[in-house]
Amino acid sequence: MTSVRHTQVVVVGGGQSGLAAGYYLRRQALDFVILDEGATPGGAWQHTWDSLHLFSPAAYSSLPGRLMPPQQGEEYPDAAHVVSYLRDYEKRYELPIQRPVRVAGIHRDGPLLRVETDSGGWRAQAVISATGTWWRPFLPAVPGRAGFGGQQLHAAEYRAPRQVAGDRVLVVGGGNSGAQIAADLAHDTELTWVTQRPPRFLADDIDGRALFDAATARRRALDAGRTDTGGVASLGDIVAVPPVRQARERGLLKAAPMFARIVPGGVEWADGTRAQADAIIWCTGFRPALSHLAPLRLRGRRGHIATDGTRTLDEPRLHLLGYGDWTGPASATLVGVGRPARDAAREIAQLVGG
Ligand code: FAD
Repeated sequence: MTSVRHTQVVVVGGGQSGLAAGYYLRRQALDFVILDEGATPGGAWQHTWDSLHLFSPAAYSSLPGRLMPPQQGEEYPDAAHVVSYLRDYEKRYELPIQRPVRVAGIHRDGPLLRVETDSGGWRAQAVISATGTWWRPFLPAVPGRAGFGGQQLHAAEYRAPRQVAGDRVLVVGGGNSGAQIAADLAHDTELTWVTQRPPRFLADDIDGRALFDAATARRRALDAGRTDTGGVASLGDIVAVPPVRQARERGLLKAAPMFARIVPGGVEWADGTRAQADAIIWCTGFRPALSHLAPLRLRGRRGHIATDGTRTLDEPRLHLLGYGDWTGPASATLVGVGRPARDAAREIAQLVGG
């Protein structure tokens, strides 16, 4: 028989969002546990491509309580530096993390929530879900994809140019992932970069700091009933981090419009033009990893879960943290997750105490 343990709060996910939640739950003197499927600290940052660098300097990429130290020789730290910062963070604050523990489902259980895992269950008065998006890559429905015949990777599976060495490569997607992976490949690969609309680079002097300010200003305007400022999207889609800027300046980042269909060994545009390709890399985004919430039946029309801040409207004992602007402005960033984490912990303290 598997045991069922009790705590006041279960946090699902031990990436940056789960750690920020832990920091504030501790300050509220709540009893909690963080359950993380990953075997080692660092969340999604352990799995990104080798050349990925943050789009903000270290000091602007910090979780609550502890500044990220600068990385020697790099204004914009790499993913390995973020992993070591997160590892140090959870140790420094002695956060109660259990790994690897996969949460399979969350259920209503009278006045409590029951969290079923692959190593027993937990009962808690509240749950914070902080599972990120990396684990649910999104692929658009494009006719002919199954018949392509070559290699297809999502950005989540891309690590380095060696995976497509010698191939003619199509990179699909006009966001940061698409531009960065195209820049990674542009120097040594026969590359076609395909975007749905012409790429919109942010001005070279704009980085994550300005994006955070824009996301916050938008949330404030919407909350105050003022006109939508457009937020980050009003500035552009692609942060011109140094490798992207260099490739663009060398004329290597010219984008073609989106093709109409995939054909064996290549792609075809609506006018019948074709391009040969041996590999396609889909930089087409991610969706929130929320399958563990299915037993709660929270999805409304169009699959969306309604929230007020981080609190789920149809299940007030459940908070969603770090999934994007709908759960707090810039909450899917290192610097942005602190504020919604603080608010979630405060609301939970009131719920549990009152
Ligand atoms: P994750 O890091 O994905 O952590 C979630 C954790 O939950 C993981 O450890 C996972 O194993 C665990 N988990 C998932 N499902 C379960 C389950 N069912 N049971 C138990 N555990 C589970 N942000 C910035 O601030 N600056 C940047 O420069 C930046 N660049 C980015 C570049 C890319 C390519 C991407 C994709 C994102 C970038 N971000 C950036 C955004 C964001 O900081 C990261 O996506 C970050 O990893 C999100 O943290 P998280 O804790 O919410 O999710």
